[in-house]
Amino acid sequence: MLKPEYEVILVEQHDVCSGATGRNGGHLWPGLADSFADSVENYGAEKTKELFNFSMETKSYIEKFITDNNLQDDCCLDVNGSLYVATTPSEIEQLEKDFAIMKECGVLNQTDIQLWDAENCNKKAKGSFYGGMFTACAGQLWPYKFVIHVLQRAIQLGVKLHSHTKITTINKHDSGRFHLHTNNNKSFFVDRVIHATNAWANELVPAIDNFITPIRGQVIVTEPLKERYWDIGLCLSEGYDYMIQRRDKRVVLGGRRLCSKTAEVGEMDDSTLNEDISAALRSLLGETFPDVFKDYPVNIDYEWTGIMGFTKDNIPIVDQVNKDEFVVAGFSGHGMPMAFLCGRSVAEMAAHQKPQHFAELMLLTEHRKMKQ
Ligand SMILES: Cc1cc2nc3c(=O)[nH]c(=O)nc-3n(C[C@H](O)[C@H](O)[C@H](O)COP(=O)(O)OP(=O)(O)OC[C@H]3O[C@@H](n4cnc5c(N)ncnc54)[C@H](O)[C@@H]3O)c2cc1C
Repeated sequence: MLKPEYEVILVEQHDVCSGATGRNGGHLWPGLADSFADSVENYGAEKTKELFNFSMETKSYIEKFITDNNLQDDCCLDVNGSLYVATTPSEIEQLEKDFAIMKECGVLNQTDIQLWDAENCNKKAKGSFYGGMFTACAGQLWPYKFVIHVLQRAIQLGVKLHSHTKITTINKHDSGRFHLHTNNNKSFFVDRVIHATNAWANELVPAIDNFITPIRGQVIVTEPLKERYWDIGLCLSEGYDYMIQRRDKRVVLGGRRLCSKTAEVGEMDDSTLNEDISAALRSLLGETFPDVFKDYPVNIDYEWTGIMGFTKDNIPIVDQVNKDEFVVAGFSGHGMPMAFLCGRSVAEMAAHQKPQHFAELMLLTEHRKMKQ
């Protein structure tokens, strides 16, 4: 963690970690948000590998922070691998294509990615699938607890936290300083601004030109089951559905947003649920894992929604957008294996240092903005 040489204030409109990070599915699954093969086709092998490796490094940094501070139990960190299962034959074709290109690019060894046949998948995933791709170095954690520990360290290092404080407008004065206005009559004068507002980034940063679209996700958490049936993470339905079973034996299942007429695109309210998605998530358990759930009229103990920020190319933005103004946002539903190091990189940029870890694809170029 960087020792701040500057006076740093952190402003959060609600409670700390009340945005997507405190509401997500708990997967720490390094890699790209989209297909590796498509990325190589669009951006070339080198840039794709750089982004992929950045994600690997982020995951290692998180693991290191947790183990160095002896927080494995508190943050419920398990690194037993994660399995992307194919629910249609065409998904298997895509996985095979990705696997072949990853092999060609030499990224398989460091992650220990394996293609599994249907038998292997079905045994481990306890369903009926066409096969899948297993990432041995992927894991799961409790993001809220992790963030609280990081925040405690930051506060010890001098960061001043202002929660329940929404930045409403930002004016730049002739002096070059920014005047931040808030909804609760606080007022801050600062030399540099970092927007780490993900799905809300459009509101205060005209320079990103609506490059980020808010999309709402929904998650259910079951009561503890009798056994821990899965110690790996699962992803299904072309990545739209994702599931873990935590150490406390509760299943955390998110997804099914395509059951909503709008696919939850543009939905910014994380205080309500979509009833169609609630029903679909509940049915998914019994339909996909009949052997596990046949004797269980399982109770759902918790359910919530959270807002993701999708960029047009599903690659986050880490860049300077104006003089002394920076953005780190747009994690496109895949922030856990990216955001930690993106935060460090943007802090280094703001401190006029070269980021120690970076991927060029995260810069907000005009070419990216032009994408439909
Ligand atoms: C339901 C769901 C499930 C997900 N599952 C996974 C998963 O399993 N694995 C994974 O890798 N990713 C997952 N994601 C994505 C992941 O959670 C995000 O990519 C990541 O949390 C983004 O982090 P962030 O800090 O950029 O955004 P956030 O955590 O949303 O933080 C942005 C913060 O900015 C604050 N803010 C906004 N505007 C203002 C303002 N004007 N003034 C003050 N504060 C402001 C917000 O209140 C918010 O707290 C999921 C997301 C959701 C919603």
